[in-house]
Amino acid sequence: MRAPIATSMLVLGLGIVAPRVAMAQVTAIRAGGLVDPESGTLSANQVILVEGGRFTAIGADVAVPPGAEVIDLSALVVLPGLVDAHNHLALTYKEEPESNVYYLTYVLDGTPLRAIQAVSNGIQMLNAGFTIVRDMGNAGDYADTALRRAIEQGWIPGPTIINSGIIIGGMGGQFWPTPEMAMGKQIVYPEYLDADTPDEIVKAVRQNALFGATVIKICVDCKPWGYTTDEIRLFISEAAKAGLKVEGHVQTVEGAGRAIEAGIWSIAHGGGLTDEMHKGMAQKGIFRAGTETPISLTGHTSEARYERTVAGLRNAYENNVLLTFSTDADYFVPGMTRGEVAIEFIETWKAAGIPPVDVLRAMTTNGFRVSETENERGPIRTGFIADLIAVSGNPLESIDALRDVRFVMKDGMVFKRDGVMTPAVFFNGGPVNGWNIR
Ligand SMILES: [Zn+2]
Repeated sequence: MRAPIATSMLVLGLGIVAPRVAMAQVTAIRAGGLVDPESGTLSANQVILVEGGRFTAIGADVAVPPGAEVIDLSALVVLPGLVDAHNHLALTYKEEPESNVYYLTYVLDGTPLRAIQAVSNGIQMLNAGFTIVRDMGNAGDYADTALRRAIEQGWIPGPTIINSGIIIGGMGGQFWPTPEMAMGKQIVYPEYLDADTPDEIVKAVRQNALFGATVIKICVDCKPWGYTTDEIRLFISEAAKAGLKVEGHVQTVEGAGRAIEAGIWSIAHGGGLTDEMHKGMAQKGIFRAGTETPISLTGHTSEARYERTVAGLRNAYENNVLLTFSTDADYFVPGMTRGEVAIEFIETWKAAGIPPVDVLRAMTTNGFRVSETENERGPIRTGFIADLIAVSGNPLESIDALRDVRFVMKDGMVFKRDGVMTPAVFFNGGPVNGWNIR
């Protein structure tokens, strides 16, 4: 955040021309409506004060301090920023040249290029209102960590990133490589970290923690043998030593059963999640990142698969599972930004008959919880880091209102105004927030 730094420069009296943020130390936002997803209510005509990158006062009769910069959103509805609980910002497979086969993408695109793609995809997500993205692997050699640090240090704009480092799996990960490619050329690395024994599990978790992962992602059942309940428990206990939670990629009912029994933090993909599994998840408080691809993204699901996806999401909702909004977006759809691809996923939630308020909770409240930011970032609450977005309609009435994000504030700074990105304040020639970031 720049404001405190600018303030200290002023205090030191070095005669430095202070940045614009320092001139108006308090920002006052006039919100026509303010949505609280948790309670499912909209309060009219609220004033939100932001200072030093945090919310300092919120209410209908909050006075605007003299000299405050006033942002007039009185024609808009303000709400917390959105969370995509499962994206792959450093992976973009495409029709040309790899026919959407990501097995080839990582051979064609090296980590440096993928890191730059991740910067662009992150900006596109922020432009669509996603202020937090969980970046769940397939990022080459830790492009996800580089992205997170570049955003946190203050070089570039982007969502708050929760990143998994390299996905850990039994030999081969999600790939089925040939012996000469796997063993002779280590073709699976760096897309997947092999861990087939307890020692290798411990080492893989520690490697990811060392190289900046803030969550651990494992392949529970990418191979028929998969991980046992005890092995998943070992992942969980080893990750906990580094303060990290474990998400499991799960694609079978058997794998889901083992992951749930082990008490995993979150489960990615809905393929193995039956009614019985949902009941177990609800009972244990396990987050569901179902990655519900809409049929409108042609070529990325099928009619039959979409029907199962919608029914599975509906069943999870009826079982009171902790639902998060998750896209698994990792491909290019010509004509769409990564953010537009992500927001398109509301179509599946609508098809599952989930009321707008609960879709919004999945996209905010539960998103903050699965990201573990809920006590500092996410809710529009006094003392919290100032992230918010504004839309023209009321998302509690129609979730489609989220398709037209007019305003975005991140860390107390304006990223988008009147529907146009204005990110200049986010670009810096050095690590203005400090370089020593995990
Ligand atoms: Zn994924």
